[in-house]
Amino acid sequence: MHELSIAESILEIVTESVPDHDKRVLSVTVEVGELTAVIPESLQFCFHAIIEETPYKGAQLIIREKKLTGECRKCGSGFTIKNYFFQCPDCGSTDVQVTGGQELNVTELEVE
Ligand SMILES: [Zn+2]
Repeated sequence: MHELSIAESILEIVTESVPDHDKRVLSVTVEVGELTAVIPESLQFCFHAIIEETPYKGAQLIIREKKLTGECRKCGSGFTIKNYFFQCPDCGSTDVQVTGGQELNVTELEVE
């Protein structure tokens, strides 16, 4: 499953960032872009399932969803891309560069 491998990479990052097991991880904040096609509920489920047997058990997963955004290469206009419709709303050009929505990052770790 897609979300399981993502949950595993999140756990890997947490393990690398907090190697000291005396410290309790309270929450992990992740930024997830629309293009990653991650289902937040599913990611929550997988994350909690895999941390159950680790020192990070009980940590909260905070998911920040990032919209898919683009920038027109022709007129430079920036906009939100809806329904994967890659066209500039201002000039109609389809030469669109994706500027957001591909994120998959751990942005914050709250440690006790
Ligand atoms: Zn344009």
